[in-house]
Amino acid sequence: MGKKIIILGAGFGGLCISNILRKNLDYTHEVIIIDKKDYFMMGLTNLWILDGRKKMDNSKIPLKNLESKGITFIHDEITKIDTKSKQIKMLHQVDHLYYDFLVIALGAEMSTNMINGFTKTNSFNLYDGESIPALRKKILSLEKGKIAIVIMGFPYKCPPAPYESAFIIDQMICNINRRNKIDVDIYFPSQLPLPVAGKQPNSKLVFMLKKQNINLFPNHKLKKIYKNNLEFHNGAKKEYNILVGIPFHFPPPVLKKSGLVEESGNWISVNKSTLETRFKDIFAIGDVTEIKINDTISIPKAGIFAEGQARSVASQIINKIGIASEEYNHILQFDGKGFCFMDTGNGKAGLIDTDFYNRNGPVTILKEPSIVYDKKKINFEKQRIKEWL
Ligand SMILES: Cc1cc2nc3c(=O)[nH]c(=O)nc-3n(C[C@H](O)[C@H](O)[C@H](O)COP(=O)(O)OP(=O)(O)OC[C@H]3O[C@@H](n4cnc5c(N)ncnc54)[C@H](O)[C@@H]3O)c2cc1C
Repeated sequence: MGKKIIILGAGFGGLCISNILRKNLDYTHEVIIIDKKDYFMMGLTNLWILDGRKKMDNSKIPLKNLESKGITFIHDEITKIDTKSKQIKMLHQVDHLYYDFLVIALGAEMSTNMINGFTKTNSFNLYDGESIPALRKKILSLEKGKIAIVIMGFPYKCPPAPYESAFIIDQMICNINRRNKIDVDIYFPSQLPLPVAGKQPNSKLVFMLKKQNINLFPNHKLKKIYKNNLEFHNGAKKEYNILVGIPFHFPPPVLKKSGLVEESGNWISVNKSTLETRFKDIFAIGDVTEIKINDTISIPKAGIFAEGQARSVASQIINKIGIASEEYNHILQFDGKGFCFMDTGNGKAGLIDTDFYNRNGPVTILKEPSIVYDKKKINFEKQRIKEWL
């Protein structure tokens, strides 16, 4: 009998796993993916829209493309996951959908509204693609003053992204010969810019930022915004002309409503190698999960980890119900490894390489920025879009 595999969320993790499953399972098995959005746009594209390499219109890829691959796409909002009857309820579909296997890849919700005074005219959410074209315009029209990049809280996805935006903004205002009239300030609530990483990447990153005269303000947790001032929990008050906010992240409300998030936690707890949840036949991957490495470090919220986790879950489902190709004919355990290319302006990118399950403790290395890594970053996006959609 054919099985029904339902994937919730057509982002990084959901697209990766649905494609692997469809390629490796015969058509007696159904692969269904549900998303409230009807397009996919990779998070890193925000930075390329900011630096002018890309435009919003040609960055969104329609999810209906999945249909030509034999993956059923349902454009709807998931309102309930019933773990007992194994059914999914949606906002518009009258019928509930039954699943044999469920993969939750709903990502993280984000909001800047938790901070009083985040106004639309000169405050921008770096993580909302729609607000980037206006941010770019605003930066290019600023004659003099201060651009404040503010990390509002932890965890947030792609830990290097705020610093990438600092390098990009630095370069943008250098290009228009206004760098000596505009400060670039970056505020973060922790002591180190990348608290999930060790000494080497932090020292190197601080060195690189300082070299570009980007001002760092550690231990600054934003409390409120009024007029053109930022007030922090440590009592500091700072002026700004343009605010680039990295929003608060929280789990999609449907998870709490459906009992998938434990009372004591915020995110879905999973087995760190298999991504199984405490519910039978339900896996969770990507930003919705929390995998603690130790008291202070968890696996960062990043697409590359969602992808590694997708591969592991796919291998388990395939081995349970199908005849796998060579690549998936054994169970792949999520190994905690990942990498990301960090934009540093001037057509260059660094490489951050991580191994979170290393038996001697987590290892993270930041490699020297180069044109080669920038090209690899471009390919990283291109290849995935081509393969998934
Ligand atoms: C500026 C920026 C730069 C980044 N750069 C990188 C990078 O270089 N490398 C990297 O690895 N990662 C990067 N990331 C992080 C990466 O984008 C995320 O970590 C990744 O998308 C997480 O994948 P996911 O599948 O868990 O969730 P997502 O990709 O966020 O997908 C979740 C999906 O679920 C859908 N959804 C949520 N709730 C519901 C609901 N109730 N009903 C229906 N659908 C719902 C959403 O619409 C969404 O499409 C970056 C992110 C940003 C913002």
